[in-house]
Amino acid sequence: MEISKIKAHCNSCKQETNHDVKAEYTNNWQHEDEYNSEQGWITYQVISCCGCDQTKFLMSEQSSYDVEHYTNHNGEHETHFPTKKTYFPENEWREMPKWVHHLYSDEGSLYEIYSELYLALRSNLIRLAGMASRSAIEQILNKTVGEEKSPFDRRLQLLVDNNFIATSELETLKTALDFGNATTHRSWKPKKEDLSIALDIIENLMHRIYVLAENAKTLQPKIPPKNK
Ligand SMILES: [Zn+2]
Repeated sequence: MEISKIKAHCNSCKQETNHDVKAEYTNNWQHEDEYNSEQGWITYQVISCCGCDQTKFLMSEQSSYDVEHYTNHNGEHETHFPTKKTYFPENEWREMPKWVHHLYSDEGSLYEIYSELYLALRSNLIRLAGMASRSAIEQILNKTVGEEKSPFDRRLQLLVDNNFIATSELETLKTALDFGNATTHRSWKPKKEDLSIALDIIENLMHRIYVLAENAKTLQPKIPPKNK
């Protein structure tokens, strides 16, 4: 079989690249009753990135349920069937930071919440990911300042009092928490860009508390002492 090529996003190369079509199967379907006759085409393809060999699955669907009518420049009537494309795994638009995996042994529950957040994100479940962002903040507060029954305002202030964040960062973190509250309690569906800002804030906090402090401890003994 001759290998054909298509353009697709590669999660590893993080851009659109040429993909080899390794396998392909098309299924035509038809549905008829006394009133209507509908038909459709589904093509299943296994595709591999020509740059890095990463392989995924693409399903392309067209049907007479979804048809666009227009007049071309000669004044003739034409029809167009838009193609709905589904990839597995999905195209990643934000990658979980590698250091989150290091939280696994010490901060197991935060690691699990954060892994599930990115699982929701890969499935385009933005509201669910927003709810998980609130759970992540709550988990960080449980582990750092405790007082699980106290109001959030007091617990955030305790982060400042215990030197986990500076006073100037309090409003930023409050915004990320308010974002999570709105998705959880007000059924708000944010845009991807909004979720990205909230995740930047939370990941910055997590990185500082759980990664930088530990890294500094391993760096300190390697630094030569000052000459006396
Ligand atoms: Zn690639």
